[in-house]
Amino acid sequence: NRKAVLITGCSSGIGLALAVRLAKDEKKRFMVYATMRNLAKRETLEKAAGRTLGSTLEIKQLDVCDENSIKACVDSLPMRRVDILIMPLCRNAELGMIGPIECQTICEMKSVMDTNFFGLVQLLKEILPDMKKRKSGHIVVISSVMGIQGILFNDIYAASKFAVEGFCESLAVQALRFNLNISLIEPGPVITEFERKVYEEGLKIDLSKADKVTADMFTNIYLKNYNQIFQSLGQTPEDVAEHTFKMITMANPPFRHQANHPYTTMTNLKYVDPNGDLPIETFYKMVFEHDKVFKASLSFLKLLRWRSHNSFSLDKDKNAS
Ligand code: NAD
Repeated sequence: NRKAVLITGCSSGIGLALAVRLAKDEKKRFMVYATMRNLAKRETLEKAAGRTLGSTLEIKQLDVCDENSIKACVDSLPMRRVDILIMPLCRNAELGMIGPIECQTICEMKSVMDTNFFGLVQLLKEILPDMKKRKSGHIVVISSVMGIQGILFNDIYAASKFAVEGFCESLAVQALRFNLNISLIEPGPVITEFERKVYEEGLKIDLSKADKVTADMFTNIYLKNYNQIFQSLGQTPEDVAEHTFKMITMANPPFRHQANHPYTTMTNLKYVDPNGDLPIETFYKMVFEHDKVFKASLSFLKLLRWRSHNSFSLDKDKNAS
């Protein structure tokens, strides 16, 4: 009895890595419905899936911003059954993802929310009622550390992830009543095509609408350090896929899981100070006071990554004594 797993955004990044990881499960526990918005982009997944294609993995079209596409996809599944719904989902890295808000249009900002938040809600609306009826199911949302903490020049992206987190946190209470699990996976920086494109689009931003200080901050501080942060802290999509695999195979999965262990040093600041000033002041110091603190922080985080290399908090079931 294989579990039916529906995954969004499988043409690239985390979605692709995850679809392949689950399809190649040695125990063949999953039937993976690897979906993507544009089937013309299926080739990379087909190659990576190899022999699992047509046995434990099927590719389907799904655009979370299109109600008809959602319905057609779910209706095409045997008995419309989805045991595990996994949503690594992000609007493509066009304008509007990073940068000063003065240089982004409301239309661009709305399109980020449309995919990252409303798309996710729309898909869930199609799948949740069946899960409630069956009183079983696991919904896994690939959020971000930016769903916990805002980051300089990621205002809209972070807002979309905060929206997702608030939504899931509210729904999780109701889900308990139906024996359903909801989990958020919160990766830190992940080295994917997406991240490279976001950077390239960042270089193209027309900064003429921003004042000189803001424009300078974006170009000479944010973009300058962007690659360094990904190099020192970046995870691979396969690593995030592994965390997700563990999450869906445990008996009592946690609601939240941060997938980038060294980064928890930063996110913990939020919980240490209920006034909320500590993380903001720390980020300010890292950015402006400047190079020395920033570099020292990166070395510290690197050291932590080295120390935590083999530790994996999902190895311990939350209900295990
Ligand atoms: P990615 O761009 O490779 O993946 C995003 C996927 O979403 C793409 O396959 C894209 O086609 C798909 N998508 C976009 N609009 C869609 C729509 N309307 N319908 C269906 N699919 C749609 O990037 P990724 O890094 O693999 O991102 C996956 C998830 O991980 C996202 O939720 C992202 O926010 C999260 N995340 C990424 C990073 C990072 O640094 N890359 C860090 C933390 C969290």
